[in-house]
Amino acid sequence: MNDATQHTGDEPQEAPLARSPLFPLPPDLLMQVFEASTEAIYICDRDRRIVAVNPSFCRLTGYGREECLGREPGFLAAAKTPDEVYRAMWLSLSETGNWQGELWDRRKDGTFFPKRLNVSAVRGAGGEPEHYIACFSSIAERIEAIERMASLADHDPLTHLPNRGALAGILQRELSTARRDGLQVAVMLVDMDRFKDINITFGHRVGDQMLVAVAERLRRVVRGSDIVARLGSDDFVIILPDIENALSVAGVASKLQYNLGDHYRIGEHNLYATPSIGVSLFPLDGDNAETLIRNAGAALHHAKSQGHGRHQFYNEGMNVAATERLKLEVGLRCALDTAHLPGSQLRLHFQPQIHLQSQRVVGLEALARWTHPELGPISPNKFIPIAEETGLIQPLGDWVFWEACRQLRAFRDQGVEHVRMAVNLSAQQLRHEGLPTVVRGALACYDLQASDLELEITESTAMQNPAATIAILDQLRDMGIVLAIDDFGTGYSSLSYLKDLPIHRLKLDRSFVKDIETDRSDAAICSATIILGHNLNLDMVAEGVETSGQHRYLEQLGCDVLQGFLYSEPLPGDEVAAFLKNWPRDADYPGAWQAPILTI
Ligand code: C2E
Ligand code: MG
Ligand code: MG
Repeated sequence: MNDATQHTGDEPQEAPLARSPLFPLPPDLLMQVFEASTEAIYICDRDRRIVAVNPSFCRLTGYGREECLGREPGFLAAAKTPDEVYRAMWLSLSETGNWQGELWDRRKDGTFFPKRLNVSAVRGAGGEPEHYIACFSSIAERIEAIERMASLADHDPLTHLPNRGALAGILQRELSTARRDGLQVAVMLVDMDRFKDINITFGHRVGDQMLVAVAERLRRVVRGSDIVARLGSDDFVIILPDIENALSVAGVASKLQYNLGDHYRIGEHNLYATPSIGVSLFPLDGDNAETLIRNAGAALHHAKSQGHGRHQFYNEGMNVAATERLKLEVGLRCALDTAHLPGSQLRLHFQPQIHLQSQRVVGLEALARWTHPELGPISPNKFIPIAEETGLIQPLGDWVFWEACRQLRAFRDQGVEHVRMAVNLSAQQLRHEGLPTVVRGALACYDLQASDLELEITESTAMQNPAATIAILDQLRDMGIVLAIDDFGTGYSSLSYLKDLPIHRLKLDRSFVKDIETDRSDAAICSATIILGHNLNLDMVAEGVETSGQHRYLEQLGCDVLQGFLYSEPLPGDEVAAFLKNWPRDADYPGAWQAPILTI
């Protein structure tokens, strides 16, 4: 028999717990509960001195039982909890007999931990507290989890930089310091050019690794006191909280361009991307976080519209440009949504390509046209870059593609044979994995052959990533599609790549043709390019032929195909049919054409 079974209930009891009417249980069972509890428990007498602690208490605090007995529990306090919390605790214990709350304690080894404490007063017959029973457990893990959540909410999980949500608060804080101390602050928006292409070509995992590398370089280039944040995608923000003048900011921008523009080794890939940077200054360009970020954004758009890898300081005119750009973006979305309806704002025009030797029209280049309901006709040179930046190029490109095939089927049905349809492809379309499927689908849908189609990609698109370009072009060529490099001569391409590209045609850029009769360098470039193209077995096409002088010159150089206003401007579908019927046209046809082609 153990002790508990010998109790009669009449004898005085030793353990305060056993006297509680709430626990009509054998004292040794209660003792086992006390000893086995995973919660730390201690009991104090009426003088608030510890009279008992359980093993969980010892485990959690690191103190042995003997080290605690007779001491006030305050010896555990970490001095992190405000005094009023303790005062409130004792007040509540004397008034209600109970208190619970969170406190910080210190272990024997000096480390701190937060705990959730529950204390009850055990009153004697006179109603005075005779003992206090306290139970607690560590809430360190919960607090850590909460802090982690808070940090996740404020930080971008990929780069661990502060995110968009955190940025506004950080910038506001910096601005109030700057206001107080009379400092100037710079806000820089950094965007990696062509990052979308890297994502599309190499996949998001490589793209993510590259963003991490960009974030590391950004941190390395600026000072420790400067702030780097990630707004999303490839958009980063740098805050320079105390700048001397605009020139010093330009210095930082140049350093960023140099460092971020260097190659990135990601897995087996060597990747390149340049940053475009927009800068706004406090207090010059705005006195609050929102305005400064918006104006840096306007400067960034301006930088991008000037080409890649530039930085630009904000000026007031830019907001006008940014508003117009936004208007165009919204308008283009709307135009695309309604492109399939009668009276669509989007149309295709077709420009004939003339084969010099046979004097036949051998091709039509499909060129997108957009008439904005308020702003009128918008040049593709303006809306194609917007479509590329906003991702609208994908639906726009698909529409162009299907519409070009539909129109070619219509021409075929009207008896027009042997005329190929040339469609321009942007970099994003070329790198999109769905391209071969779209091409096959449209050809099948309109019962066309692959050789009825020519795809034009600009030289700079081809050179962005020659290895990837070659792989995609190989696929398209194997399908039987004719491939052309557009705007040749403007993209600083390495000629050694040219021989590896599986292409059929080179389109000499209009800028060389323009002054071919008067500018010896342009003439030399045209001549050399035509010889080079022929040696590589490529068809040579000249764009932008406007005068019979240019025509004659190009003919002498042996150019194969000519395209330009001299023969025809890009025409709507119905006018092309008429043009083809009348070709070759009479000498008095309106336009610059003066003499029948073959007699020059
Ligand atoms: P591009 O592909 O090089 O097209 C030739 C451009 O030169 C066309 O301008 C055409 O109208 C113009 N052009 C043709 N002959 C002459 C001439 O004798 N003199 C002059 N001054 N210009 C001539 P457009 O239609 O304004 O297109 C500009 C550029 O926009 C195109 O250049 C092409 O890069 C792009 N683009 C147009 N449509 C599309 C499209 O559907 N998709 C894509 N990705 N880009 C397109
Ligand atoms: Mg073209
Ligand atoms: Mg061109």
